[in-house]
Amino acid sequence: MSGGTDIYHEMIVDYSRNPINYGEIENHDVTFHDSNPLCGDSIDIDMKIDDNKVTDIKFHGKGCAICMACTSVLTDIAKGKSLDDVRKIEKHDVLGELGLDHLQAVRIKCALLSLKVLKSALYTYIGSNLDDATDVDTLKTEAENLY
Ligand SMILES: [Zn+2]
Repeated sequence: MSGGTDIYHEMIVDYSRNPINYGEIENHDVTFHDSNPLCGDSIDIDMKIDDNKVTDIKFHGKGCAICMACTSVLTDIAKGKSLDDVRKIEKHDVLGELGLDHLQAVRIKCALLSLKVLKSALYTYIGSNLDDATDVDTLKTEAENLY
């Protein structure tokens, strides 16, 4: 095992013990829940959205180390970004951050559950808040086809 892999492993263990952006947002503008029954991961993401920008994002729930680490990283990437930029977040943005690009297929759901929840939350928000929600179905398809 290379030194690089050890560093990533430490990061994952660290995030799982001390997840960032963990908690609830009382007056959230949108919230979404999904789970990965195969592993037992279960995540809720709350977002506060102002002026088409994610001004606050928090998650709660439980998950394995990979799930908790990826959700921490993802929520940190999304925080402060415009909805357009959040839409552009891809698998690699999260996986690459933790050295998980070559994750085994069985664990990929653990890693990408949070991205699925985030895209679904965004879909829910845009669908119910924007008059021009014509391209919102692409977002739904994206969320459904993540893994
Ligand atoms: Zn898991």
